[in-house]
Amino acid sequence: MTIFSKIIDGEIPCHRVYEDEHVLAFLDIGPLSRGHTLLIPKMPAATMAELSDDAAAAMGRVLPRLCRAVMAATGCTAYNLLQNNGAAAHQEVMHVHVHIIPKHDDGTGLDLTWRPDTLDDAQSLATAIANAM
Ligand code: AMP
Repeated sequence: MTIFSKIIDGEIPCHRVYEDEHVLAFLDIGPLSRGHTLLIPKMPAATMAELSDDAAAAMGRVLPRLCRAVMAATGCTAYNLLQNNGAAAHQEVMHVHVHIIPKHDDGTGLDLTWRPDTLDDAQSLATAIANAM
């Protein structure tokens, strides 16, 4: 059982900002910036790939409204959505979550290092992914 399941069950407190039948949103306890919020499904899936279509749809349905609420409350006009899957990809809590991370004028927010490579073998790669869908 992860710490987020305990938050869903009310065993551990959180600073809740939204809840419905399928999802819960609350403030991140270690914010990268003011307003850093987490959205989680109530379904206890570890990664996005393990999430049901319905649970994913419930997250997607609330995300734009949650982003607007974080923007309205903090005054930010830019923000990143981050969703880590697997320890190698920086996931620490093994329960699906989307970070909403405001980027403020003082520079606080998500620090990104983006190193684009060339797209090799595109057609066979696209075909392999398409065939796996
Ligand atoms: P990740 O690296 O994507 O797994 O991020 C996990 C996030 O969960 C981190 O940003 C933590 O600060 C946050 N977190 C861990 N425990 C709690 C908690 N009890 N309440 C709120 N946020 C938490």
